[in-house]
Amino acid sequence: MRKKQFKTESKKMLDMMINSIYTHKEIFLRELISNGSDAIDKRYFRSLTETSFGLERSEYKIRLETNPDERTLKITDNGCGMDKNDLENNLGVIAKSGSLEFKSENEDEDIDIIGQFGVGFYSAFMVADKITIKTKPLGSDIAFIWQSEGVDGYTIGECEKDDIGTEITLKMKEDTENENYSVFLEESKIRELVKKYSDYIHYPITMDTEKRVEKEYAEGEEPEFETVEETLNSMVPLWKRSPKEVSEEEYNNFYHEKFFDFEDPAKVIHTKFEGTSNCNILLYIPKKAPFDYYTKDFEKGLQLYSSGVMIMEKCADLLPDYFSFVRGVVDSADLSLNISREMLQHDHQLKVIAKAIEKKVKNELKKMLKSEREKYEQFFAEFGRQMKYAIYSSYGMNKDALEDLIIYKSSNEKKYVTLEEYVSRMPESQSSIYYASGESVDKIEMLPQTKAVMAKGYEVLYFTEDVDEFCAKILVQYKEKPFKNVSDGDIDISTEEEKEKIKKENESEKDLLDFIKAQLGDSVAEVKFTNTLEDYPVCLSTQGGISTEMQKVLESQPGGMNGIKAAEVLEINVNHKVAESLKALYGKDDEKLKSYAKILYAQARLICGLSIENPTELSNLVCELM
Ligand code: ADP
Repeated sequence: MRKKQFKTESKKMLDMMINSIYTHKEIFLRELISNGSDAIDKRYFRSLTETSFGLERSEYKIRLETNPDERTLKITDNGCGMDKNDLENNLGVIAKSGSLEFKSENEDEDIDIIGQFGVGFYSAFMVADKITIKTKPLGSDIAFIWQSEGVDGYTIGECEKDDIGTEITLKMKEDTENENYSVFLEESKIRELVKKYSDYIHYPITMDTEKRVEKEYAEGEEPEFETVEETLNSMVPLWKRSPKEVSEEEYNNFYHEKFFDFEDPAKVIHTKFEGTSNCNILLYIPKKAPFDYYTKDFEKGLQLYSSGVMIMEKCADLLPDYFSFVRGVVDSADLSLNISREMLQHDHQLKVIAKAIEKKVKNELKKMLKSEREKYEQFFAEFGRQMKYAIYSSYGMNKDALEDLIIYKSSNEKKYVTLEEYVSRMPESQSSIYYASGESVDKIEMLPQTKAVMAKGYEVLYFTEDVDEFCAKILVQYKEKPFKNVSDGDIDISTEEEKEKIKKENESEKDLLDFIKAQLGDSVAEVKFTNTLEDYPVCLSTQGGISTEMQKVLESQPGGMNGIKAAEVLEINVNHKVAESLKALYGKDDEKLKSYAKILYAQARLICGLSIENPTELSNLVCELM
């Protein structure tokens, strides 16, 4: 028979499996069992509408069989089976798209990817050097045989097989100095692995074992043995067990396996709702955001079960967008098995459950914030952005739910603070919640305005993410304290006396300031003296609510909001020597004053992290003065 080639991606994956030095090779069994269980689910589903496809519920099972003499382990299911197309397209393609992209970025971490994504069927090549699949799909008289010895391809042909379903035979690799593959042919090992990884699978996983016949034996009589079919798994899904009986390791194992995350979860929430809707819920808050989390490819949702049978892989309606990172399982006895997606959306029970989940997650996060601060901060670094987006994109509708979960780094030792903490330690003279925007904490700290506000003894929140300032605009205030950008032109941190003084100064120097403004044309809306800057000669502030940072974000958006400009105000430090020079030049050396105006404006732009339009001109001006 002619050998067919694996698709290129799959070949790479296969190569990785075959040469894997991954220490947890044993996971291959859980992967194959889980495929078998999925296949039975599919058959069960179809039998709901096409009754001829069904078996008695008790007949569905996954059988394991070892043959140490032939070095084979056989995994048989009576699920939906595969047709030729499935064999080519499903087994020829790697399981989780994206896993290879991940791999190519992390060349030296090929070991972790196995645990991270659950590579499915291919993992069998970690332990076997030859794999034979015999399978007969639902509604077919023909069975197929698929065989492969690894990278050089596979063959497909027809074969004899009586029952619908799939039988996978693994020919174990020979043992080496470092690796013991024979262990996977031992009953005790198989039993251990099923318990460890597949205990909750809701179909029996069986193995034929020789049992000593219990009877009265005569003196010296050889014991008799009989073959009995033993069920290795308890079949109680984890989420239906009492939380007291489930160990952390079990929760974590289940999580890795089900949600393809290599890391342990940050938090497990296992709970039960009783009453109108009887419902078991097992939720996980991941430690790390999945690689596609902040892309449009990411789909939120919880797995939805009806009395132990999965009816939807990702039920989006169970999670609000701001908690889209939550993963888990919801099992409700009240949902009908063949309920459609459209019907689910309007299902009252589901709405009640969704509300309860939202409340539960919020409370758990609050608890974490309160009593496991470090953990919460790590969590927030991964998922906080999503919650802020949610506040912004819902125009503040979720504000009450979320404002107490948001944290920011601040000038207070650069540590994270909640808004509540911030407000509670505001000095009496402080009227607003001050924030400064910039690319990084370092850049924000270099802003003259940040320094000015801090010099007053006020704490400044550091907004380093695109969404921060937009989110603050939507929040408007917290506990009646308005948010205020330190770069806002009308920031109010001076005493009445200081304000009066600078007002007079600006009035008496109006002609000079107008002259400077005239040099800068439309670039700035206003030029004025200020007395709040410490040592800086100039800074750039804005009028009217759009800050220069917001402008940067808007400009970076494709198509969208381009053309919205911040109204810039050039502020000159009246206490700086440069102010004296400007005053001295006015009316005496206007040419030089023109150059000064341009240079000061360029400096102000650079200080607040903006680029300048004409660097050559700036350079020439500076050189002339030198
Ligand atoms: P995954 O299970 O994550 O989709 P796998 O590589 O394990 O990835 O399997 C690929 C596909 O092959 C499955 O989605 C399924 O369609 C098919 N498949 C694998 N094992 C079986 C089986 N025992 N019975 C029927 N189909 C199977």
